[in-house]
Amino acid sequence: MDYLLSEEGRRELEALSKGRCLYAFDFDGTLAKIVSDPGGARLGRSVQVWLKALAKRAQTAVISGRSLEDLRSRVGAEVSCLVGNHGSEGPHVVQEEMFQVQETCHGWLQLITDQFQADLTQCGVFVEKKSYSLSFHYRTVQQRSEARALISRVVAALAPTPRIVLGKSVVNVIPTTAWHKGTALQKCMRQFGCTTALYVGDDVTDEDVFALRDPRILTVRIGKKNASSARFFLKRQPEIVQVLRLIVEMAG
Ligand SMILES: [Mg+2]
Repeated sequence: MDYLLSEEGRRELEALSKGRCLYAFDFDGTLAKIVSDPGGARLGRSVQVWLKALAKRAQTAVISGRSLEDLRSRVGAEVSCLVGNHGSEGPHVVQEEMFQVQETCHGWLQLITDQFQADLTQCGVFVEKKSYSLSFHYRTVQQRSEARALISRVVAALAPTPRIVLGKSVVNVIPTTAWHKGTALQKCMRQFGCTTALYVGDDVTDEDVFALRDPRILTVRIGKKNASSARFFLKRQPEIVQVLRLIVEMAG
């Protein structure tokens, strides 16, 4: 991984500004500072100013795990494209696909309720039903290895087989037919006729973009981490202001 604000990183950003580029960002921990209450997350003043300036000059997208409605209330209408639910919600998704994904989740939930609800309740695992995925939470569970073993058993029983995304004390299961951040970004690039993209993110689900290793996408992770597939990193979240400012200046 290389530092984005190095000579080499700046050269790569400069190269993007020569073509039709989609500048895309995750929200929490990337554009917005992480706060203890997720409801309080918002864009800092300078991020707002530079993001707005960038949106006037180029195609921009915010791709987040938040619902589209939630995201819209925090980002506003300036950016070209908002994508919610880790890629499952946005202008790139057609109704029929959304319906299919919801049906799959519904089927899983039915099976869980019928076969595992008693065990899950006894173990203290809480199943959260989201529109396009299910989450098994075990943050408050004392016997964590027991909880993880039970969740593994439940997940193995799900049909069709889900995509699994691990978080902190949470296991998310997502229909494989659902969009993820990576496929959503590629679809948005096609829709906007962009031949290149920048993507900056900080978390597990952003690896869905990084791991594409799509040569057209310049990938940046907030925080250096060797296990990440991103090519560049920023040291700290506030450096996003410098990046936005730099690309606005390069876009002229
Ligand atoms: Mg994030």
